[in-house]
Amino acid sequence: MRYRRGDNGNVLFATERCNSFCLMCSQPPRQIEDDWRIEQLCALAELVDKDEPSIAISGGEPTLLGEGLPRIVERCADSLPHTHVHVLSNGRLFGEGVYAQSFRALHPSLTWGIPLYGDHHRLHDYVVQSQGAFAQTIRGLYALHAAGQRIEIRVVLVKPTVERLLDLARYMYRNLPFVEHVAFMGIEPIGFAKANHPALWIDPADMASSLADAVEFLTRRGLSVSIYNLPLCALPESLWQFARRSISNWKQDYLPACANCGVKDQCGGFFGWVTPDWTSRAIRPIETGIRHA
Ligand code: SF4
Repeated sequence: MRYRRGDNGNVLFATERCNSFCLMCSQPPRQIEDDWRIEQLCALAELVDKDEPSIAISGGEPTLLGEGLPRIVERCADSLPHTHVHVLSNGRLFGEGVYAQSFRALHPSLTWGIPLYGDHHRLHDYVVQSQGAFAQTIRGLYALHAAGQRIEIRVVLVKPTVERLLDLARYMYRNLPFVEHVAFMGIEPIGFAKANHPALWIDPADMASSLADAVEFLTRRGLSVSIYNLPLCALPESLWQFARRSISNWKQDYLPACANCGVKDQCGGFFGWVTPDWTSRAIRPIETGIRHA
């Protein structure tokens, strides 16, 4: 568990195991037996401050804990009924049996962050390096919706996904109209991402028009959209309203160029371990009052 009182990045770490092998995984999985975490996390949930605004449950893939995951969420409901609980899952196991139903009405403020990287199976399955994952995730999303769950779709902006971003936005609008929020996310340059840089990296300056088109398509149709992990100067100003200071405090940093920037207070900056390979050529301080091109 990573817990710091009042922090925006508190996480209950569910398991090191995963059933996907994503090209940009920031937490490379290990196939080890770690079900011991279930009891530990249930106990830890009782130690978290009762007024903590939010906590995430992440991994690895938390659903690999099976019935252990609803137990942890239930313990959060008992100990932290006013804390928002956000579970990050690839969603692949919810389509099987009645698993999704075990989360029905389990916590008063529970949401799921589920990634989708393409509008067709070949693209999504390639990014997560797992054949059949797209079909399983789509089935899982419908099962979660049928179980009354609140869903956020998370789209990490890797190059092959950006190349079909508007197609993905159209797919989400037509097939997943029940999602509550869509988050477009810059890559965290750590873990597997470092080894797969050539396949993944697209400068945010070069994705601006695809990103703007996808955001406009979704927002015009009433979907709620955010952009995470991308610095303001790498985005067209029309997208600033969607950019969030999303990087957890303990991971977040700025570059020397940011020292004299007029919008530093609003900008989420960078992951602390960013390198020049993962830095947009568009980074430059913004003079307050000067419009961004
Ligand atoms: S220069 Fe300003 S806008 Fe660009 S990354 Fe730094 S703080 Fe953000």
